[in-house]
Amino acid sequence: ALVTRFGPSPTGFLHIGGVYTAMISKNIALQSDGAYFVRIEDTDKKREVAGVQEHFDEAFAYFDIAPTEDDSNGHYGPYKQSSRQDLYLSFVKQLLQKERAYPCFCSEHDLQEKSDEQRREKVDTGYYGRWATCRSLDPAEAERRIANGEEYVIRFRCEGEPGPFVFEDKIRGKTKVKNNINDVVILKSSANAERLPTYHLAHAVDDHLMRVNLVIRGEEWLASVPLHLQLFDALGFEPIPYAHIAPLMKMDGKSRRKLSKRKDPEASVEFYMQQGYPTTAVLSYLRGLANSKLANTTVEESLSLPILLEDCQVSGALVDLVKLNDVSANIVATMSAVDIREQVYAWAKQFDSELESLMSKHWDAIPSFIDADRFNNGRTRKDLTKWSDFTALYGFFFNEVFAYCESAEDARFDGVPAEVVSNFLSLYKEGYTHAELNEDWFENLKAIAKEAGFAMNNKEYKQAPERFHGTMKEASLILRIVITGRNNSPSLHEVCQLIGKDEVLKRIAKVL
Ligand code: GLU
Repeated sequence: ALVTRFGPSPTGFLHIGGVYTAMISKNIALQSDGAYFVRIEDTDKKREVAGVQEHFDEAFAYFDIAPTEDDSNGHYGPYKQSSRQDLYLSFVKQLLQKERAYPCFCSEHDLQEKSDEQRREKVDTGYYGRWATCRSLDPAEAERRIANGEEYVIRFRCEGEPGPFVFEDKIRGKTKVKNNINDVVILKSSANAERLPTYHLAHAVDDHLMRVNLVIRGEEWLASVPLHLQLFDALGFEPIPYAHIAPLMKMDGKSRRKLSKRKDPEASVEFYMQQGYPTTAVLSYLRGLANSKLANTTVEESLSLPILLEDCQVSGALVDLVKLNDVSANIVATMSAVDIREQVYAWAKQFDSELESLMSKHWDAIPSFIDADRFNNGRTRKDLTKWSDFTALYGFFFNEVFAYCESAEDARFDGVPAEVVSNFLSLYKEGYTHAELNEDWFENLKAIAKEAGFAMNNKEYKQAPERFHGTMKEASLILRIVITGRNNSPSLHEVCQLIGKDEVLKRIAKVL
């Protein structure tokens, strides 16, 4: 059984790339009847943002990446790094005893000088290399300086020579990286109230103690693998296999770049929740990005087939909202109107209070509104892609938010003069029959359109264009715009039945 984890830092909204990695991690663990947990990586107190935990919980639920194991039922917690401080300190102590770590007293200023000097002399080791000043400090001297209250960090004493390093990655196969031989900081400054570790030490200690047996993480950590393996060794831990996930990308003009939280709204998980994409749509889409085989299956398969590490791309997958919209529209098209109402309402409760109250008021009628639009003349339309589109698409059913046409000018379109529109509409208002049957309603419309000077069809029109203002097509379009505000609405007869006679007449009267 595999144990995997997701380690978000509480420094702001989650990046969709994090969700993507977590989704893969969770799926891989579940395939093997294993465990998947979330470990809050809050060792950077300066960058921490308050209230993020709530956002995380919401996002975990939305994207189906909630842990299978946490403080309530897991045996390897705590599941938050700041609560694991004693563990890190005891391992740092061991490393100090084994002389695989040492205190370093260099200030930011010293470090800067050192690195400038090395750049000048073109030495590739950096201050952090093994020729560091504090690396060879006499331990008794270090003790004395600590006792004196000098500020210090703890660095790892790296071994070996710089050069190429090869390891086996579960996605990339045999992978070559540069071995940097860095004496990285493993415990942050003694000047901080809390002595917290850096990612490097925390990763080794936590993943070992928490029984992780497959580390799935972002590719940005690839370069640190030689260091991490050395840390595992120095700590006496068995190494853990790695799978490095390539980042999500985006087309920027003609080139590809990493999806960035600063530049791209769709990089943040908030975007998907605010737009109201159904979870299944986002998951189905992300699964297709992870394994392209899943992008070419049915929705059910894309959501249920296993994600395979060997099918993950080595170069980053492209996020394309047009494709996501497509996936989403297809999924929404298979949902029942009652389900859609449920989901839109849950969304509106969080993001759109006007829609929320509108929906509660018209609750029972809503499924018919949705279906009237979707199933038009035997065709299924897939206009509804995400819940935030609801009002724009179906708003015309609700007189409270309907944008009434206030004049014939509003209701006219190319070619038909305003007087003709007015005349047709007043005749329509007079002679309107709110017929139950579509045929009866249509006969009524035809008679009125004829009286207003419209030809019944193209053929009739073409025989004497000068005698007509247009055809039935134009007459229906005027009516459609007045009644729905759209030029591609569902069956007009059905709309009239749904909004009721009074409202139909009111919409027409407004124009006149
Ligand atoms: N907190 C780390 C990050 O956000 C986690 C990396 C990992 O999964 O090991 O990048």
